[in-house]
Amino acid sequence: MPTPNVLNFGAGPAKLPTSVLQRAQAELLNYNNTGMSVMELSHRSKEFDNLHNKAQRDLRTLLNIPDNYKILFMQGGGNTQFAVVVYNLLATKRHQIDDLEEEFNPPLDYLITGSWSLKAAEEAKKLYNNVNIVFDAKKFYGSYGSIPPKEDWKLSGSKAAYVYYCDNETVNGVEFNNIPEIDPSVPLVCDMSSNILSRRFDISKFGVIYAGAQKNIGAAGLTVVIVREDLLVRSKNFDNKNSDIPAIPSMLDYKIMADHNSLYNTPPTFSIYISSLVFEWLLELGGVEAIEKTNLTKAKKLYEIIDNSKIYKSPVEKSVRSRMNVPFKIQREELESEFLKGAIELGMLQLKGHRSVGGIRASIYNAITLEDVDFLIEYMMAFERKHCQ
Ligand code: PLP
Repeated sequence: MPTPNVLNFGAGPAKLPTSVLQRAQAELLNYNNTGMSVMELSHRSKEFDNLHNKAQRDLRTLLNIPDNYKILFMQGGGNTQFAVVVYNLLATKRHQIDDLEEEFNPPLDYLITGSWSLKAAEEAKKLYNNVNIVFDAKKFYGSYGSIPPKEDWKLSGSKAAYVYYCDNETVNGVEFNNIPEIDPSVPLVCDMSSNILSRRFDISKFGVIYAGAQKNIGAAGLTVVIVREDLLVRSKNFDNKNSDIPAIPSMLDYKIMADHNSLYNTPPTFSIYISSLVFEWLLELGGVEAIEKTNLTKAKKLYEIIDNSKIYKSPVEKSVRSRMNVPFKIQREELESEFLKGAIELGMLQLKGHRSVGGIRASIYNAITLEDVDFLIEYMMAFERKHCQ
């Protein structure tokens, strides 16, 4: 069957590189001469073990992950990690204290820049009674689209069990241009679901990074976690005897996952395989440094069109605009459905903004090429000419 000529600008699950899909297709029935599909292999087999370890090594190379960090392949996506970090980093903080003189109740600091960090903070509040909102950008500005200046942040300092933020807010198109500076003794936790592998990061600045695979890593089902080794502790409440912190369910326990090289239970083997192909693809392209350059060019071109237009406008302040998710509005709102319809006719799919914010959103992850973005830009310009005469 011929492949329809389609450009997928969806926010996730998102477009994968065509060559990756073609390779997966070619290998689907017979992986590495095993006579079996990769999804039929035992997760304890030599073939899977090789694939699994190579995927970790390649990711370490791509992100330049220092040796004192573990890579975990977990499940449950970003939403599960919202809870997982609470359990694990409270356990770490508790572990650091030998004699408790007062009630154990350290604050958990949350920076809120959009709907995903808000959701993470709400999940933390469900599990724990001392969540400190360092700022909620919506309360400052009325909507998400800016990050308040550092002097308005209410960080708890060294008391905090961790500081949490989302580096790229997929729905709102807000991306940090710098890693937030915090007390160096406090672990920085980052949701990098929608911009991991899109640009270089100094991993040593983080305590924990996590990302669902379904954007820049591969297929949904896998959640990549990168965690600094000294944060991996055996929880004092391991056997539920110390009731001042919650016990961690085994599947959510970073230490258990790390001790088992993420093979505590059956992992999402096929998703790990797809990720391994994406990592190889990215290495062949020249790694994160190379893709970062392309990503910058793609985003710059798209924002230039929006800023120089009479009908499109960006709801995001220039200094914090995402390079991965570009939301924009059409000034006459009634034109939005015509814009989307015309885009679909040309094969450009999933450009509708998230249901909570409306408008248009072009997600331009690693697998979207410069040519794909040019095609979208041409259409935007033609649409504008049609409606601005
Ligand atoms: N965090 C960010 C930044 C996201 O973009 C998403 C989903 O798109 C999530 C968290 C939630 O991820 P999941 O659907 O894997 O739970």
